[in-house]
Amino acid sequence: MKNKKVIVAKFGGTSLACAENIRLVAEIIKSDPARNIIIVSAPGKRTRADIKVTDLLLGKHIELVMERFRDITDELGVDVDLAFDYENRLPDYVGSRGEYLMAKIMAAYLGFKFVEIGSGVRFETNTVIPGFYVVDKNGVVKTLGRGGSDVSGAIVADKVNADVYENWTDVDGIFDRDPNRHADAMLHEKLTYDEAREIINRGARVLHPRTLQFVEPKNIPIHIKNTFNPTGKGTIIG
Ligand code: ASP
Repeated sequence: MKNKKVIVAKFGGTSLACAENIRLVAEIIKSDPARNIIIVSAPGKRTRADIKVTDLLLGKHIELVMERFRDITDELGVDVDLAFDYENRLPDYVGSRGEYLMAKIMAAYLGFKFVEIGSGVRFETNTVIPGFYVVDKNGVVKTLGRGGSDVSGAIVADKVNADVYENWTDVDGIFDRDPNRHADAMLHEKLTYDEAREIINRGARVLHPRTLQFVEPKNIPIHIKNTFNPTGKGTIIG
């Protein structure tokens, strides 16, 4: 039986791109005690010309990955072992290390536990979970496709019967038109699952297309929110 409110909160790559952004994320997490099951992406772009950590990993630019994580741990003052094997490992494993290390760092910074999605795993409060991959019963890492951390968050929200699945990103929510091209674009404050599915199927890259199927059966709402404008209303789906 559940009596406390449970928020599963997923933070995307831009929200975790550098130490400064990670501090904002930590403030958001700490501002609501119910927000205590956290899913993280790998650090994304700091500027338009920057390269996402996942792309650096898939391109085997391990030194650059190390540099990015070292900058983050130095600035946050956390002690996390950043070494991992990349020479004898499959691409799924190497590609997933951005989320793995980001979750380790976030857990250390928040004083939360690090837990991976795998068979038989129980998710507790005060947990940080790496998005983008699952660990199968043989311990093999499988990634969920690009943008797959949205799906990870939805899987966890279902498992813990969350009251809400918050998806924190770098835009205010879902708009009726592309807000970058139309100054008068209007934010959808509320959408049904069907309406959201239609918008996603039309190609809007707000959520991974497989996200809805995990939360819809239990009617868990998805709340899309902007890390860089946390007081904005966002978009509620469901
Ligand atoms: N980091 C992965 C990607 O760039 C997964 C994600 O961010 O959702 O696709």
